[in-house]
Parts: sequence; C-alpha cells; structure tokens
Amino acid sequence: MTFLNQKYQSLTPYTPGEQVDETEFIKLNTNESPYPPAPKVQKAVAEAAQKLNRYPDIAWSSVAKPFAAYLGVKEDQLFLGNGSDEVLAYLFQGFTEQGIAFPDVTYGFYQVYSELYDVNTTIVPLKADFSIELKDYDELTGTVIFANPNAPTGVYLSQQAICDFLERHPNRLVVVDEAYIDFGCTSMISKITQYENLFVVGTFSKSRQLAGARLGFGVGNKKVIADLNRLRFSLNPYNINALTQAVGSAVLQEQAYVNQTIQKTIDVREWSKQQLAALGFEQTDSQGNFLFVKHSQISAEALFQALRAKKILVRWFNQPRAKDYLRITVGTQEQMRVLIKAVKKILTEVTS
Ligand SMILES: *Cc1c(COP(=O)(O)O)cnc(C)c1O
Repeated sequence: MTFLNQKYQSLTPYTPGEQVDETEFIKLNTNESPYPPAPKVQKAVAEAAQKLNRYPDIAWSSVAKPFAAYLGVKEDQLFLGNGSDEVLAYLFQGFTEQGIAFPDVTYGFYQVYSELYDVNTTIVPLKADFSIELKDYDELTGTVIFANPNAPTGVYLSQQAICDFLERHPNRLVVVDEAYIDFGCTSMISKITQYENLFVVGTFSKSRQLAGARLGFGVGNKKVIADLNRLRFSLNPYNINALTQAVGSAVLQEQAYVNQTIQKTIDVREWSKQQLAALGFEQTDSQGNFLFVKHSQISAEALFQALRAKKILVRWFNQPRAKDYLRITVGTQEQMRVLIKAVKKILTEVTS
C-alpha cells in the first residue's frame, strides 16, 4: 500500500555521506571543514535563541547586506538558500524549460533534481583527464550546470573557457556551482554584471565551517534573483531560519579566521597530494578541500573498506567512471598523518 504519487515512486534519492561518531572515526567523507566554527558563531546562536518566538527576517538582511558588500554585488543580485542545495533545487525546478546538461562525473544532486522535476537532461562525458570541455555543450539547448572546481574530481575550469561559452550562448543560462571555489580558485562572481546568462551558486558549508547551519547562496542578474524569489515565496518564504541568519552574519565578521582555515586546508591538501603520490597513487590536481585518488595495487572499494576497518571514513562512489577512485576530504594535518600511515600499512599488506 502506498499513498505516494505514481510519478515519484521510482525516484532515486541522493545518498549523503555517512554521519558517524567522531570520537570513534576520523571523518573524511563529506567535505566538511575539520575546524570548528568561528568564535563569534556560538555567541550569535545564544543571542538569536532569545528571539525564536519571532519569524525570521524574510530579506535575510543581517547576512545579505554584509555578504553582498563582501562579494562586490548588489543585494538584488544575491539570493540565499537553505544550503546551496535549495538554490540548486529552484534552478532545476524553474529554469530548465529547454532542458539541462551537466557532466557525467559531478555532484550527485544534479541527477536527483533532474528526476524530481522531470527535466529533459543531457549527460556530457568529461574528457579522459576528467576536465570539462564546454565545446561539447555547444550543440545542445537550454541550461548548463557544472561544479567548478568539479566534484568529486577537484578539476578546475578556467574563467576564460567559461566566459567564451557565455559569449557563444547569450540565451542559455549557465550555472556555475562554486561550492569549493574558496580553496584557491577564482570565482565567476566578478563577471555577473557583464553576463546576464551567468548564475553562480555557493555555500557556507565547506569553507566557512557551517555545514550544519544550512546556508547557501546564488548570485546572478536581478531578474533571475526576482524569479527565484517568486518560487521561494510560493514554497517557503522563511527559508533561512533565525539561528542560521545569526551565524551567517557572525561568520562574515570572522573573515580572518575563515581565511586561516582555508590556507591550512590548502597547505594540508598539497602535503597530502605529495604523500599519496610518493605511495604510488594516481590523482587529479584537486583544487577543492578533497583529493580524488586511485592506486593500481588495490581497488578503491577494497581500500575504502580497509580504511573503514581502521576507523577512517572516506567516500567511494559506485558509479561507472568514478568507481576506481576514492574521494578523501582534506582533514587537519594530524588526521591526514594518521590517514597516510594507515594507507601505507594497508598497501604493505596487499603487496607483501
Ligand atoms: C557540498 C556541495 C553542495 C551543497 O552544499 P550545501 O550548501 O551544504 O547544500 C553543492 N554543490 C556541490 C558541488 C557540493 O559539493
């Protein structure tokens, strides 16, 4: 017996990475920041808690004003979402009449939203080196979406390639999901005013230590923002709760702390790349807060299981083009030392 509408009965939902007890596991599976939220965040929660009898600000002003200023855009070019996942959901729901195209290896939610909103979808294979070739999207119609740097590969596509595509296709919406842009790459946000067909999505989950608060954003021309708000006000006007608005506002006063943690993550990422290369791993030159690696002596699945047995959790995607690889979130220096040691031990065991 089911009460669910027929058309949703075959939906394949997104599979989030496991959340585990961190006193037991080293958690390198969901690309969260390993560092605690900035000091002002906790105080902000306590203060905001006293006003929870009131609905939150529908204009999200305490976040939107300083954040728009930080990004160098106008407030009417900025949209905030309950995680960037919510922004992405609105884009798939409302901006895909001519269809949508995205890479075969990318953020898993794109496929899920495509099915949920019954969008005409074209999957475009990445090149052999896992890079995105935008010329492969030239003959298609409709919206294009990709993550940059891409997930789970970490491969970054240059601004120039994206600008060229925007110019070739002024009538197609191009969504660039910049969840990982802060870890050393250049954002497209500075191009928003120049290209009306550009929309950039971002999140406070990865580089700002706020995955648990659910705060994402979109930046684009003000007509797209107004249309997103039309959808929001038809579903959930209070999409950012008061506690999240408070912590979002607080973390924006902590940019020095955020920058420090970003730099640590970049340093540890590069150190980890070297260590893994020395152990014979093949990997992309990831520009995210994660690594995408494989080893000729052990399958990704077997290494995933062996690490799990040693209480280190990484991510393995059972997907045709990604299944030979592990995605390993860049943790603290200490966590990555433990990881490297464990990997060494496992490799000695399989090769002896
Ligand atoms: C993590 C991630 C998101 C989702 O972020 P939230 O803001 O936590 O919803 C979106 N896109 C990509 C590519 C991601 O890796």
